[in-house]
Amino acid sequence: MKDVAKQHLDPVCGKHLEAPDGRPSTEYKKRRYFFCSERCRTAFEKQAERFRMNDLARAGALLTPGRVRWGIA
Ligand SMILES: [Zn+2]
Repeated sequence: MKDVAKQHLDPVCGKHLEAPDGRPSTEYKKRRYFFCSERCRTAFEKQAERFRMNDLARAGALLTPGRVRWGIA
């Protein structure tokens, strides 16, 4: 099983960021988020709470596969 905590996903577009170093990032409620572009970062900052809930739901979905389905359809 992969270490989920070390995976960095752009919470806006869902892109997997191989190397988050040097990417635009922001901190929200003591969590750091990385983005593929400044555009995604701006979008996040406009609706940070919404994206945070999505992110938490996705993390929950990873822990309980099959219970909640998100993203790639
Ligand atoms: Zn993005």
